[in-house]
Order: sequence, then C-alpha cells, then structure tokens
Amino acid sequence: MDLQNKKITILGAERSGRAAAMLVKTLGGFPLVSDHAEEKKIEKSLAILKAAGIPFEAGQHSEKVFDCDFIIISPGVPSASKVVLQAKEKNIPILGELEFASRFCLGKIIAITGTNGKTTTTSLMHHVINLSGRKSYAAGNIGSAFSEIVLDVKEDEFVSLEVSSFQLDFNEKFNPFISMILNITPDHMNRYDHSLENYAQAKLSIFKNQSGEQIFIKNADDEILNKFQLETNAAVKEFSLTKELQNGAFVSGEKIIYNENGKALFTCGINDISLPGEHNRANAMAVIIAANCIGLPQEKIIEELRSFQGVEHRLEFVKEINGVKYVNDSKATNVDSVWYALRSFNEPLFLILGGQDKGNDYEQIKKLVEKKVKKIYAIGSSAELVFKFFHAIVKVEIKDSMEACVKAANQDTREGDIVLLSPACASFDMFENYEHRGQVFKQAVEDLQK
Ligand code: ADP
Repeated sequence: MDLQNKKITILGAERSGRAAAMLVKTLGGFPLVSDHAEEKKIEKSLAILKAAGIPFEAGQHSEKVFDCDFIIISPGVPSASKVVLQAKEKNIPILGELEFASRFCLGKIIAITGTNGKTTTTSLMHHVINLSGRKSYAAGNIGSAFSEIVLDVKEDEFVSLEVSSFQLDFNEKFNPFISMILNITPDHMNRYDHSLENYAQAKLSIFKNQSGEQIFIKNADDEILNKFQLETNAAVKEFSLTKELQNGAFVSGEKIIYNENGKALFTCGINDISLPGEHNRANAMAVIIAANCIGLPQEKIIEELRSFQGVEHRLEFVKEINGVKYVNDSKATNVDSVWYALRSFNEPLFLILGGQDKGNDYEQIKKLVEKKVKKIYAIGSSAELVFKFFHAIVKVEIKDSMEACVKAANQDTREGDIVLLSPACASFDMFENYEHRGQVFKQAVEDLQK
C-alpha cells in the first residue's frame, strides 16, 4: 500500500487513532485526525498530535473529513455513527486501524479474540514466544496500538495481537497467520443493535480472509460458536475441556494433549498451567496449539506455561492474611467471567459483587453462588439489584465502599476462606476504571495489617 502524498482521514484521536496518524505521516501520507469529542476532553491526545505536527479537528466532524483517499477508523467510533454513514454514502473506503496497520506488517500476526480471556491469552502467547527465544510484540487492545509498533516487526518475528470485536468492524483483507476465537457470550450488546448474531459475526470475521497456509484456532465447547457455519480456507484446530479431539488440544484426566490427525504432538500436565481455573486451561490450550504450529520447542512451552504469573486484576492473588486469601478479579465485568471465577475455587468464598449494571442476568451463577459463596458484599449502583436477586439464597450485605467490604470480610472470614472481588459489573459508578477498582481493593487489603 503506497501512502505517498495520499490524503487520509483518521476518525478518533485516542491511542489507536493517534498511532495510525503517525504511521500515515511516517509513510509519506497527509493525515487529518477528526474527533467529535470536545477539545477539553481530549486535550492530552491533541497535544501529542500538535507536537507531532499532525492536523486535527475536535468537537465535530466537518466536511474536511470526506476530502481524502480513504478513512481509518478507531475502534471507539461506532460503525453506525453519522460520520461513518456519510462516508459510506460518498463511497469513501473505510479501514479499521488493525487492518490498516496489518498491511505493513512483515512478521507473523497471531490475532486473539473472544468475549473473555483475550488479555490473559495474548499475554501468555507473548510470554511463551519471547521466553522460547523468539521475538513477540504485544499489541492491539493490550500494550501498544498495532500502528505504533508495526514497522519495528521483522520477518521472523511475531505480533501477539489482542483484538476486540470493535476492531473487526471494518475488516476487509485482514488475514493473520494464526487467528483464535476463545469464546462468544453476550456482551457489548448496545453496540450491535442488541443482536448476538451481529456481535458474533464481527468476531467471526477474524478468519474470513485467511488462506490455506494459515490457521484458525477455536473453542470446540462454545455453543454459540458452534451454531455458525465457519467459512474459512484456514486449517481449523480446536480445543476442548470436555472431549477428545483428533485435531486439537483437550484435557484427558490430569493431562493436556495436543493431537494432529489423531497423533499426540504435545503433552503436558494440567498442573503445568500456572493460572487457576478451567477457563485458563482453555486459554492455555489455545496457546499450546499456536506455539506448536509455530514450532516452539516442547520443553520451552511447558517451562513458560509454568512460569507465567498471570495478568493484574484477573484472578490475581493479592495476599494471605491469617490463613484467608484475597483475590482480585476486578476485570470480571460480566456474569460469565464471574461464573468461571467461582468455579476456580473449592474453598468457601466471600464475594464482592456489584457496580454499574450492564443488564446482568444473575441466573447463570445462582446455583454456583448457592453452593460456594458464604456471603456477598454488594457495592455500587447495582447493590440493591444484587441484594434483591441473592438475599433469599445467601447472606447479602450492602456496603458503601470497597474499604468497608474488605474490613467486613476480614471480620467474617476464618482460616481457609477466600475473599474474592469479582464484581460482574462495570466500575464507572465508583471508580475511574476496573484497574482503579482493583487497586483500591488491593490497598484496602494491605491496610488491614496496619
Ligand atoms: P478480556 O481481555 O477478553 O476482557 P481478560 O483476560 O482480561 O479478558 O479476563 C477478563 C475476565 O474474564 C477475568 O475475570 C478473567 O478471569 C476471566 N476470563 C479469562 N479467561 C476466560 C475464559 N476463557 N472464559 C471466561 N472467562 C475468562
């Protein structure tokens, strides 16, 4: 793709939009960044663009947006927004930021999507490649924007790319060497007209342009994924927690086996997976398949699976105080991830639940809560909802702060119990974001010993 003297509009001035604009400039094109947010709200981003000598407009999308050869769209800009519809009417080509960056990538892309587990799996993939003596860059939703690092990647190197469904909305030729769909459960329904079909289709487009030499890795246990006809030329490999596979990875007793045409190519123990929970076994199996496909040595793969420390705010072990363990799963922002969190422990649980509600249906975790949870501390704007749903089956106390939850849990628990923050909700009612919520939880745990 030749950008020399091309006029290119970039929609969205945050991380990926800025990185795309810089890449356009580096490659000899003329970028214009346009963001409908008020200047004040995005002043940091605009200052960076200004320093780089990149023209921008804020507070509106003016007619200037359409005076270009093509448009690059950031994942934050909805595909149904007015500016996008206008551009389509004018027949201006629109490329997603990932798709745009991928056109300049010399290395091999391992693109990872799913409703849950993207960050964990991308980090594990990155860790396994790098510590096996090859080079991986982590990019996309994690670490740097793809456009930021793409020119650094050499032919024999890899990009472990975390891909959200929004990043696939304008996916025309994107064809990663390896693609993965970890799972599909309802999320972000407001951006997809409340249609699970639309949301799933966005995710399924990750493999639609792959060729026969490329690989698509999928979760064989996923009901929604299994409902769709998977049209791809790529070699399909699967992973399963429940059944033996001829071409794929599966759990067999205490082992994980990866078969190709019915022959075991790789075996390790389930205890070689350092991360807790069945869901992390699934994530690890996806990585095991990819690591085998790119030819990493077996003993290295096992070593790196063992040494991976996990990612902050995802079932992160914080501390043990008087025999009680505190676990931070602040990133559990939907009911499905709480379901997996609850299944990851056999000890009695004291659960901190609630926050900004996303239309949650707690029916899915009702039985597990009944079986495993001794008490719920309900927080945030959905505390009443949580109380109403659960108080008939388990003790529920409404608390007005994270500190109050942790202090109460410290009083209520005894040796062998676990205090788990796994809120099933967004954090914006009480915190800046889920990271902030996790930090406040960890600080409150630290403060218990003061
Ligand atoms: P994402 O980047 O897709 O949001 P994360 O790796 O950040 O995923 O994990 C988000 C939440 O989902 C955490 O609570 C984590 O423990 C949980 N989780 C991780 N992997 C899976 C999985 N395969 N299925 C369901 N939940 C998962």
